[in-house]
Amino acid sequence: MVKVLLTGGSGFIAAHIIDILLERGYDTVVTVRSEEKGQKILKAHPNTPKEKLWYVIVKDVAEEGAFDEAIKSNPPFDYVLHTASPFHYNVSDPVKDFLDPAIKGTTGILKAIKAHAPTVKRVVVTSSFAAIVNVKQHAKVYSEKAWNPVTWEEAMDPAQTYRASKTFAEKAAWDFIESEKPNFDIATINPPLVLGPVVPYLNSLDAVNTSNSRVSNMVQGNNKDGLLPTGTFLWVDVHDVAFAHVRAIEVPEAGGNRFFLVAGLYSNKDIADIIRETYPQLEDKLPPKDSSSDMPADVYGFDNKKSIEVLGIKYRSLRESVSDTVKSLLEVGV
Ligand code: NDP
Repeated sequence: MVKVLLTGGSGFIAAHIIDILLERGYDTVVTVRSEEKGQKILKAHPNTPKEKLWYVIVKDVAEEGAFDEAIKSNPPFDYVLHTASPFHYNVSDPVKDFLDPAIKGTTGILKAIKAHAPTVKRVVVTSSFAAIVNVKQHAKVYSEKAWNPVTWEEAMDPAQTYRASKTFAEKAAWDFIESEKPNFDIATINPPLVLGPVVPYLNSLDAVNTSNSRVSNMVQGNNKDGLLPTGTFLWVDVHDVAFAHVRAIEVPEAGGNRFFLVAGLYSNKDIADIIRETYPQLEDKLPPKDSSSDMPADVYGFDNKKSIEVLGIKYRSLRESVSDTVKSLLEVGV
């Protein structure tokens, strides 16, 4: 049996990764911050035996040695997927709230594996388009070759803190491989905005995960007076992101690579239009029909070839993703 440790098991993307790991027969152990979250995950999989799905508590990934016990397992782990990292926009202390957990969480798990888990062959780190994008001067075409040039000083600006946390964490991972030369290799998954079904056992009316909040805001009528700015114009569906994490452990040549997981361009106007078409009963909650798109004509392009060729990703459409997201939101009572 092949055994996988998945950090941040209570997260949106992680919940979809759990489904794929179980479907494909992996023994899966997740890290969560509390017993309560661990029990919720087990309860949501009532027919899965505990040898197939279990949890261990890691209260705060930023703590020194946070993963030292979680990584010791019998039978031992073969692979690690590291998704745990803060993702929200409430920045009060940039270092404590974001930079420490992102960076120390990433170096912490790599150190723990090197010290205590010699059977681990590969670690897949969930990075982000945030570690690629250059908001000051967009690339013509974004690909895995680009790095966000953000500095530590700029990271103190709350508007940049999250993106900086992902950039420095991913850099720290590659630096660790370079300097420590461990027995395992790494791959990183770099998605932009991730949309897709919210996880019923984790979400409620007032606690929808960050990346789906623009869809839930529209569905709740919060943008009735007008569309909010889109921000960055790239997106991907959560099923494809989750599948990419699992393919990144299955495909030998994935090691040593970043994977830019991007389905396409979108704007908030496209999301509103899809909701209007697929859920006409929500019409009176949506931004005005004649709102125009804020996507510039010369918007950047993207190159997702590597994810298709190496990982075999077949990207879902925006229409399918948005309508699945709305369906899931209505099911949890949004
Ligand atoms: P979620 O907020 O749903 O998941 C984040 C996970 O990280 C949760 O399990 C959370 O635990 C855990 N976590 C956060 N801080 C800590 C900490 N200090 N100690 C322990 N655990 C912690 O977000 P997503 O699923 O969307 O994000 C997962 C990963 O994907 C992150 O690395 C994020 O940066 C990345 N990503 C997400 C994108 C998106 O659009 N969703 C786009 C690109 C990258 P808890 O539930 O207890 O808070």
